Amino acid sequence: MTQETLATNPVANLSALVRCASVTPAEGGALGALEAMLVPLGFSVERVTFSDDDTADVENLYARLGSAEPHLMFAGHTDVVPPGDVAAWSKPPFEAAIVDDMMIGRGTVDMKGGIAAFVAACASYIAENGPPKGSISFLITGDEEGPSINGTEKLLKHADAKGEVWQGAIVGEPTNPEAMGDMIKIGRRGSLSGIITVHGVQGHVAYPHLADNPIRAIVAFCNALLETPFDEGTDTFPATNLEITSIDVGNPSVNVIPSKATAAFNVRFNDRWDAESLQMDIHNRLDQAAERLRSGTERLPVDFDITWKERPSPSFLTLDETLIAAMQQAVESVTGRTPKLSTTGGTSDARFIKDYCPVVEFGLVGQTMHMVDERVALSDLRTLTQIYRQFLDRWFA
Ligand SMILES: [Zn+2]
Repeated sequence: MTQETLATNPVANLSALVRCASVTPAEGGALGALEAMLVPLGFSVERVTFSDDDTADVENLYARLGSAEPHLMFAGHTDVVPPGDVAAWSKPPFEAAIVDDMMIGRGTVDMKGGIAAFVAACASYIAENGPPKGSISFLITGDEEGPSINGTEKLLKHADAKGEVWQGAIVGEPTNPEAMGDMIKIGRRGSLSGIITVHGVQGHVAYPHLADNPIRAIVAFCNALLETPFDEGTDTFPATNLEITSIDVGNPSVNVIPSKATAAFNVRFNDRWDAESLQMDIHNRLDQAAERLRSGTERLPVDFDITWKERPSPSFLTLDETLIAAMQQAVESVTGRTPKLSTTGGTSDARFIKDYCPVVEFGLVGQTMHMVDERVALSDLRTLTQIYRQFLDRWFA
């Protein structure tokens, strides 16, 4: 095999991927481009389309090289967020233009760059050592930036049903806040959202005794959620944090007491909670606030309800020392820096993978993801390729 067919150049790999306009849910040729890189390396590639009610069909890819253990999974997504205002870009978002050692394009960082680097690392490993004593698989979705219904979760189930078993996984999402080597993610906080609705009685502002203003209660409820911290955080997790994301009354009038007020909130929680215990705590806070509102007054009992957004994400923490150490040592040996082991940031597809095998996340620098002129330094792309290669050397040693 020649060097070209072996996809050892991460820049060439990334150019091929970025030139595919794979805005969720469009495949855009991106999975085809990846398949064209993996087949010459010996991977058997399967493309699977998943469907569900009220959401677009999405194509996904699962590829495996080898049949022995240990089996390493690399997980990621080829779909990208829309470019937004194309006129605001200095180069077309799907051209993969290179300016001053930077490649500009949608998905360069999030996360076609991670995929391009991992393919290059596998290619260079195979060129030097032949196929690993074990297996490598790619679990790549086209539905990470969208509703995430026809993506990683279903692809994992699909592979699991075929008997696939993994000993470890890397998610190649951007994890470094500023520079390569900053941060490996070894877990994530959970996420829970809800909406509180207070039902009052509409009336004239000059006759408040005939009405019941729901704003009085919604303010008290928001305070009850914000006043007392949920916890102080743990050694591995930041403190649980609740943010009120919207308070809505929708009342255009100055002389009417409205009939209803709502408040929406989101909680990012650490491993001292699960969705159920947190829901219970929040309910208690609201019940106590409602009790305080009515004690000692002639007021009506506060009539409120709370609805929870479906599918809260649990928190998780990876405890696999071998997996974490292999990535940590790979980062240290290439960058000379000790990466922080972190659980910060938003949710990722690692929340699904953790049910099948231990998972760590390491990728590029995330600063320009989802922005106009999303871009990656080619030196970072090469550094990431070296890190993944070092990881493979250690993992399969
Ligand atoms: Zn991403």
